[in-house]
This record gives sequence, structure tokens and C-alpha cells, in this order.
Amino acid sequence: MAVKLFNTLSRKKETFKPLRPGRVGFYACGPTVYWYAHLGNMRAYLFEDILRRTLEYNGYKVRHVMNFTDVGHLTSDQDTGEDKIEKSAKQEGKTAKEITNFYTAAFKKDAALLNIKKPTIYAKATDHIKEQIELVKLLEKKGFTYKIYDGIYFDTSRLKDYGKLARLDAEGLKAGARVEQVHGKKHPTDFALWKLTPAGVKRQQEWDSPWGRGFPGWHLECSAMSQKYLGEQFDIHAGGVDHINIHHTNEIAQSEGAYGKNPARYWIHGEFLLIDGDKISKSAGDDITVEKIANRFSPLVFRYLVLTAHYRSQMNLTWESMEASQTALNNLYQKMRDFLDETSGQQWWLKRLVKNLGLAGKQTQATFKKYTKYEKQFLEAINDDLDTPKALGLVWLMVADQELASDAKKQLLLKFDRVLGLGLDKIKSANPPSLVKKLASRREELRQQKQWLNADALRAQIEQEGWLVEDTPYGPKLVEKKIKL
Ligand SMILES: [Zn+2]
Repeated sequence: MAVKLFNTLSRKKETFKPLRPGRVGFYACGPTVYWYAHLGNMRAYLFEDILRRTLEYNGYKVRHVMNFTDVGHLTSDQDTGEDKIEKSAKQEGKTAKEITNFYTAAFKKDAALLNIKKPTIYAKATDHIKEQIELVKLLEKKGFTYKIYDGIYFDTSRLKDYGKLARLDAEGLKAGARVEQVHGKKHPTDFALWKLTPAGVKRQQEWDSPWGRGFPGWHLECSAMSQKYLGEQFDIHAGGVDHINIHHTNEIAQSEGAYGKNPARYWIHGEFLLIDGDKISKSAGDDITVEKIANRFSPLVFRYLVLTAHYRSQMNLTWESMEASQTALNNLYQKMRDFLDETSGQQWWLKRLVKNLGLAGKQTQATFKKYTKYEKQFLEAINDDLDTPKALGLVWLMVADQELASDAKKQLLLKFDRVLGLGLDKIKSANPPSLVKKLASRREELRQQKQWLNADALRAQIEQEGWLVEDTPYGPKLVEKKIKL
């Protein structure tokens, strides 16, 4: 079954066709490591993770490259303002290297907590200065550059369709003209390829180049590193919608100028996360990080919440929605545990083969039909431009389906979790501590003796230990209140 993805270039859902059969070259813009990534940033990495997992679920081998911007990203996101890393280093009284190492490690830790798969290659901008200088030289040779007092700039008027990704029109260009401009730039959309260190200034991070001492422009690293690791053209480039107008537009310009090709065939963008209805900004939500929510929630609760919205719609985070996701995820873990407890661990279709036909065979045949039906519907949902809300809905329908055996449900959950990444493979059978088990059997004795009040007191004590007693037709069952992975 084909994967369909919404391509920002065409503004259409397209059937994904890889450049090389069975393989996907995938570049995702990574964080600028001057501060912690907030949850809005993490939503983008979660969407990219779902995209990668969906491709892998479909049998593709994905080469996933992500960069760390550790130089050159200015506070304006354009060509004015301070370098975010140098600014942060000054504020924290540390070296630029200390800052970037610290926040790179923090990012990796947060990504792991959210069960985001490690890219095949992590690439740092400062490790690829040579490649970036080579790219500017190539652009210079082809006549796409000009020099002004503070750097080497890309002449966007040299491309016929600059801005096609963002569909920048005259209106958009005028809007661009309103932002703070660098004096001497020929067109408002021109951007820096190499910034020169001003005379008399000593930056922490600067390098010699044919144009003088300085540092690369922010967009340059992605073009240089994607070309190095994925080639002049690869399959998918992803990022947040905030990258469309400037960063990705300029990456396309650089690659088209240098190699005559749009670097990626599919440009996929994830929408913003709102916090209590506000865009995350300095004033609201900028400091809401994975580490912060981890005091109250399992980080995977945020992953679950993100899955409940389509990646191309804005999503609002409220503490109520986090609570609801916490409950839902715990319920799903309970279901998984129940299925584990109810089954021997043998694969149900093996049993079916052994049993062949007969009475039991009839039952399993119905199960088999259901199994393949859910399997197909799940694949349809995720392959339809990563429709995770629909896929999650199916998960809940499936676990509640009375006609499906527990073993089949367990197998399906594990299979679907290869895309969802909710940690269902880490759920183990219930294993109450011996104190809780003792209390439960004592309570059962008291119940047999109809000593209800005493039995209830023990139930309360069991609850304090984090467990609930459910009385089932087969006897009491101990259920953990909150399953931790
Ligand atoms: Zn980038």
C-alpha cells in the first residue's frame, strides 16, 4: 500500500515514490542548541519520528539525517541580531562549546524520553565548516553571490522562482521588506551565506575563509550537510511550518543555485503547538520543556497527546488535555498488561496452524479475519498522510472488540506501537510486591468470614501501596494504579 504525504511544494497529498526503490533519504532540521527545546519544538521532532516510523513500517530503509545548529543562527532568524549561541554563552558565563555541548546532550535526553528514534546521522554545523565554505565558493563561481560590508550574500533575483515553496508573492516580499534590513542588500529576500566578523571584534566561534574571518549563515549548514550525507537530491525534507518562509526557502535557493536541483522531492511540515491557546513565544510556554512536565507526567503522555491531533493542524496543550492523555495512556498500558496476563505468550496464529480446523478453528478463523481487518485499517490510516488520530481511534476499537482474542490484541498492539512508539513493548505482566499480595490474600480471608469493614481497611492499605483490588468472577485481581515503564 502506498504512503501518501502532503507535499508543501505542490500543496497536495501525493503518493510517495522514493528515488531508489526501498530506500528513503530523509533530512530533518534539528535544534539550535543554545537553550532547552520547548514542547512546541518537540512536537515537530515527534511528527518527524512518526513519519520515519511510518516509512519503516512500510518496509523502507530510512537514512535519517538531523543537524545541530551550533553556530550562525541569529536572534532575528534572519541576518540581523546576535548569534544565539554567543549570546547564551555570554549570559551564562560559559564558552560557546560548553553551551552547545550541554544543550545538545539535553536535547538527546529529551528526545529519548519521548521515544524519538535516533537519526542515522547527527551532524553539527561546526564540524562542517569546510563543506560550507566549498558551497559558497561554488555559488560564487556560478554567479549567485555578492559581497557587502558584513558578508557574502545570496542574490535571490538570480533564480526565476525563488520563494516557490512559501508561494511568496509581491505582498509577501513587501512584508519581508518591513523586517530589519541589512544595509546594502540588493533585494529584501537576499540572505547571508557567510557573515564577516566586524573589525575589532573577537567572536568565540569564527573561521578563516576566502572572504575573511567569519561564520556561516544559518541556512548554509543544512544545504551543505544534506548534500554530503544524502546527495544533491534526496527524498524527504521535513521541519516545522515556521521554516517554510525563510529557512527552507533559502535552502532550496542554495541547492538550486549550486546543483541545479531542488534538494528534496517532498517537503513536509508540521504545525505549531499552542499552549492554552497561545503560540509558544518568549512570554508563554517557551520554558515548558520535557524536563518540566516530567515532574507531573510520564513524558510519553505528551507523545500520546501529540498523536491525538493531525500533524498539519495546530494543537492546543492544556493541563486538562495532559491529564486526559495520562489516563488514556495508563488505560492502554493496563489493557496491554491484561492481554499479556491472559495469554501464554505463544503466537496465536501458530496455535491456529497447529489446531487446524474444528471447533477451535472456527473461533480463530473469525479472529484471523478481524486481525487482518484491523491491520489493514491501521496501515490505511497512517499511510494517509500520517493520520494518527484515526490510528489511535482504531487502537481503542480493537482493544474493546469482544470478538478478538487477547493474544491477537497483544500482537496487534505491539505491531502498531512500532509506529506509535508509546512503549507498549516495555509493559510486563503484573508483579505486585509481596506485601501487596499478602494484604490481598488476608483481605480475601476476611471477606470469606464476612468481616467487611476489616476487609475494606485492607483494600485502602493496598491502594496506598499503589494497587487496586478488582473482584472478578475468578477471584480478586490486583491492578497497578499507574503503570510506569
Ligand atoms: Zn535546516
